[in-house]
Amino acid sequence: MPSAATLLSDVFGYDAFRPGQEEVVEAVAQGRNVLAIMPTGGGKSLCFQLPALMRDGVTVVISPLIALMRDQVRGLREAGVEAGALTSGNTPEETDAVWQALEEKRLKLLYIAPERLGTGSALNMLRRIGVSLIAVDEAHCVSQWGHDFRPDYLRIGELRQALNVPLAAFTATADAETQVEIVERLFDGQAPDTFLRGFDRPNIHLAFAAKNNPRSQILSFAAARKGQSGIVYCGTRAKTETLAKALRDAGHSACHYHGGMQADDRRITEQRFQQEDGLIVVATVAFGMGVDKPDIRWVAHADLPKSIEAYYQEIGRAGRDGAPAETLTLFGADDIRLRRSQIDEGLAPPERRMADHTRLNALLGLAEAQTCRRQTLLRYFGETDVTCGKCDLCDTPPEVFDGTQPVRMALSAILRTGEWFGAGHLIEILLGTENDRIRSKGHDSLPTFGVGKDYSRQQWQAIFRQMMGHDLIRPDPERHGALRMTEAARPILRGEDQITLRKDSITKAQRRPAVKA
Ligand code: ADP
Ligand code: ZN
Repeated sequence: MPSAATLLSDVFGYDAFRPGQEEVVEAVAQGRNVLAIMPTGGGKSLCFQLPALMRDGVTVVISPLIALMRDQVRGLREAGVEAGALTSGNTPEETDAVWQALEEKRLKLLYIAPERLGTGSALNMLRRIGVSLIAVDEAHCVSQWGHDFRPDYLRIGELRQALNVPLAAFTATADAETQVEIVERLFDGQAPDTFLRGFDRPNIHLAFAAKNNPRSQILSFAAARKGQSGIVYCGTRAKTETLAKALRDAGHSACHYHGGMQADDRRITEQRFQQEDGLIVVATVAFGMGVDKPDIRWVAHADLPKSIEAYYQEIGRAGRDGAPAETLTLFGADDIRLRRSQIDEGLAPPERRMADHTRLNALLGLAEAQTCRRQTLLRYFGETDVTCGKCDLCDTPPEVFDGTQPVRMALSAILRTGEWFGAGHLIEILLGTENDRIRSKGHDSLPTFGVGKDYSRQQWQAIFRQMMGHDLIRPDPERHGALRMTEAARPILRGEDQITLRKDSITKAQRRPAVKA
């Protein structure tokens, strides 16, 4: 049976669990009774869909909304999972197909509307088909005091007893009374494993910096934390080796780790990290799944992670002991280009690629955030009402300016050159640089030639990076990464919308203390 992590990426196409998911998936897969309280949008469905694939037999999913069930069934089928629904919205053919799949023991997930449970034939059917797990979505519907009371939900408790299988209940409603009612009615008063935890890790300090000289940025971050255990995540295997060497040359105890190493070497590195104080492991994302070291004091990203979920999971390895821990994530225009092209050139179907772009945008939004990083991060996972005081933006609020005018200049340079050029050439046009390439293309006679002289080359780089971060422009893999305008930029170009930019995170990064080698 493939592991949860393998199914997560192969079937669902995600690169990391969201906060809270992994523990819940594990408990449900083990067949424990579970009550999981997670915010809306936190990713509850995965917490029963994935265990359903790890268990023999059928998982019955009870959900109050037909539209939602149909969406989930469609999503699962697209991912190659046998799923079906029995609801009043079915055509007779659909219902027949579900029965057929059940008889042939092919079905992994059966979605069923709660009102079906009232019929004796449904219970007989469920008895026959080898149900291994009941999952209840929107479990607060069993509470008579809530807004969403569904009388049919009261039958679920009987169903669990009749089938004698584990039950996993999910809700976003966390108040204590509702919880008590859920336990009473669904679990017959026997306390299930309950998962309710905020996603905030208040002891972890969050910081991002624009890449300018990544090696020296990482070296100076590590130098300020000499003797502490830390992890540096890199985008490529080769980089883990060169950066580990640079750290050793600077007097640190450091080694590299990636999936291309011999299993024995990897194990030795894991053990050393576990046992030694003050070792730095420079690694690809292959490092971490099995690492359970409570006193990792810092995590740095030499390259932008893949998604906001991956970011959260990777920084979350720091400070498990609750003592202060620090993080630094570097990002640059190259990272954005690389991540975009990885998505565009991947084999995933179009909808999944769209979703991957959206998730990447969320991470870039975090990187370019103008107010508290922690609140931006946790809002993404559905948690509001977070207090911070432990992030770079709370430490030093960034200077911002109205970027509408330069953004319009940049967009106009892009459009007037037919969306066929990269940032480097476009910036030279804006600066009015007279070079051969510009002259040969006639770009020195464009109306945008030289209109951007008020900004330096470096400031323009930061503006282009932020435009990519705000998804106003995207590199087109079919045009060698030439920048093209997105729909999101249109209102700004037309003068219907404004945009605030950060003054320049690049110049700020350069003021970091010099590195002593
Ligand atoms: P909930 O039921 O908790 O409101 P959903 O299960 O509908 O949330 O999930 C919300 C969104 O999060 C969906 O778009 C889903 O594709 C996405 N999602 C869930 N788990 C992950 C993950 N591990 N990585 C990335 N995206 C995820
Ligand atoms: Zn903050």
